Amino acid sequence: MRPAPDRPALCSSFEGVDRKGFPLPHVSPSGLPEEEGVELRRAADGKGDGVLATRPFAAGETVMVGFLVGALTGNDSHATQVGPGRWARHGGLGPKVNHSCDPNCGVRLNDGHAFDFVARRPIATGQELTFDYAMRNFTIDHFPAVCRCGAARCRGSITGWKDLPAVRKADYGELVAPYLRMMDDDIRPADGG
Ligand SMILES: [Zn+2]
Repeated sequence: MRPAPDRPALCSSFEGVDRKGFPLPHVSPSGLPEEEGVELRRAADGKGDGVLATRPFAAGETVMVGFLVGALTGNDSHATQVGPGRWARHGGLGPKVNHSCDPNCGVRLNDGHAFDFVARRPIATGQELTFDYAMRNFTIDHFPAVCRCGAARCRGSITGWKDLPAVRKADYGELVAPYLRMMDDDIRPADGG
């Protein structure tokens, strides 16, 4: 199947590898597995959907194991950046985790080339899980300019990693996509003095 030219399409291969033979080991046929310790909060309008903790998590604990359900030919509003110029679709509840400019979770690339959510600080039962979209996306192309995360340190708009203040980059430490720091190095002007 050939993707439509104006819109990234899901690859048709869901058999455990994408079109480049990239392994996708945690494929769930339904795409919505039972996940221990978290639950979906559904809102009537769909816009208030989120993911809640159903038990406490300690800082540093893996809250949710991510898995991919398909590679994409380009970025779109539900895509996850998995490398420079590469995007994929996550399954399960991962795509329902909302952005915050002061998130309680970070992300860590796992062996399946998907992102786990890892607690940045203790999370209580009933708390909503959040992460910063800038932890995975170098640029944000498909979200409204105004951020309504409500955090005291909200930066006002959902920016990508490229536009994240250096102090926040340092604050997030290792709990961001590894390719983002590589991409920073790539665009940094050559050191000529
Ligand atoms: Zn915000």
